Amino acid sequence: MQNKFNNLKLIPETMYVNKIAKKVDTPFYLYSQKKIVNNFNNFKNIFKSVEPLICFSVKSNSNLSILKLLKTLGSGADVVSMGELLKVIKSGIKPEKIVFSGVGKSYDELEFAIKKKILLINIESENEAILINKISKKLGVITSIGIRLNPNIKASTHKKISTGKADDKFGISKDDTINFCNRSKNLKNIKIEAISVHIGSQILSDAPYMKTLTVVESILKKTNIKFNYIDLGGGFGIPYTDKQERINLINYSKKVKRFKTKNNCKIIFEPGRAIVGNAGVLITKIQYLKKLKNKMFVILDAGMNDLMRPALYDALHNIVPIKKNKVKINKTVEFVGPICETACKFIKYKNYQKLNENDFLAILDVGAYGSSLASNYNTRPLAAEVMVDKKKIKIIKKRQNLQKLILE
Ligand code: PLP
Repeated sequence: MQNKFNNLKLIPETMYVNKIAKKVDTPFYLYSQKKIVNNFNNFKNIFKSVEPLICFSVKSNSNLSILKLLKTLGSGADVVSMGELLKVIKSGIKPEKIVFSGVGKSYDELEFAIKKKILLINIESENEAILINKISKKLGVITSIGIRLNPNIKASTHKKISTGKADDKFGISKDDTINFCNRSKNLKNIKIEAISVHIGSQILSDAPYMKTLTVVESILKKTNIKFNYIDLGGGFGIPYTDKQERINLINYSKKVKRFKTKNNCKIIFEPGRAIVGNAGVLITKIQYLKKLKNKMFVILDAGMNDLMRPALYDALHNIVPIKKNKVKINKTVEFVGPICETACKFIKYKNYQKLNENDFLAILDVGAYGSSLASNYNTRPLAAEVMVDKKKIKIIKKRQNLQKLILE
């Protein structure tokens, strides 16, 4: 990376870092409440004419305070596990705004979701539908389901976050969806209410979304089912580097509006990253500077256990000093974490500013798939999470207690 960090905007909330660091050990996640609210409202505005149900994708960030905040904005939730479902219910989001996705939902998870009467269980195989039918029969209820379609569309994203190609484990092919719809009459305890589709994450072009709509439409013509909902998933990308652009959703929103009118259905979206991605930074401290002949390792106290995306998806997250200066280091600087894995590294720069041990830095755009992907690898406690709301600083998750962690 060329040195562009001087032009990078920190979220304004980083002005409180020194104050927060007196109360909370680094590394810690720092979120901007204002950004989350703005992102949600912007998304809602773009699709105003569609009046969608926005089901925030909880896997992107499952902090309870964030879920409660989104609830106040009218959000529903897309969950993928019993844990997420329990958290969402705890946040106050009503079951009629919850959809449940995932290829491997267990009996217990399904039974719980059925009892809670959530809006949709999006099935990913015929056998899952059969199991839902069986459980629903036992409970004497009829359960609303969606069929997750695998449209066989390339989403031009990292291979590990593509979900809509025929080879991917997700969803049911177009032909199998049509066949299932036309054969499902025997399953008396399920009601097919929706087609759902989610082709991947961090998608920066509207083209694959447009193609997906065409595939969904072709299915609607070939079944006799009245689908009340079409759940168009999430995946809307954000720019992590200056080479990436924000996806322009205006054209897509017009196409979705036409689709909705023509097919007389309600639309659901499941955005995660677009709502929280740029609303969080990970504050970290420089542990050591390790100088080699041609480069310098900046060893941070945040590691791949705190922020997994670079190791998992080769993701680049810019790193910006909290206190800027004009003195340049004339070596390549490589930011790495303390974990005993070569993959525990973040980003490299040329011409970075002079750094000192104990300086604070912010790793940018980590609000999505940051804390939610964190682990205890190397027996390290999970980082604290802090929300800034105007001038109010709230610790919304305490740093995990190391003494408790070592008992198991
Ligand atoms: N819906 C489903 C089914 C997902 O698997 C995901 C994540 O991959 C999302 C929604 C949210 O994706 P994103 O955070 O990219 O919007």
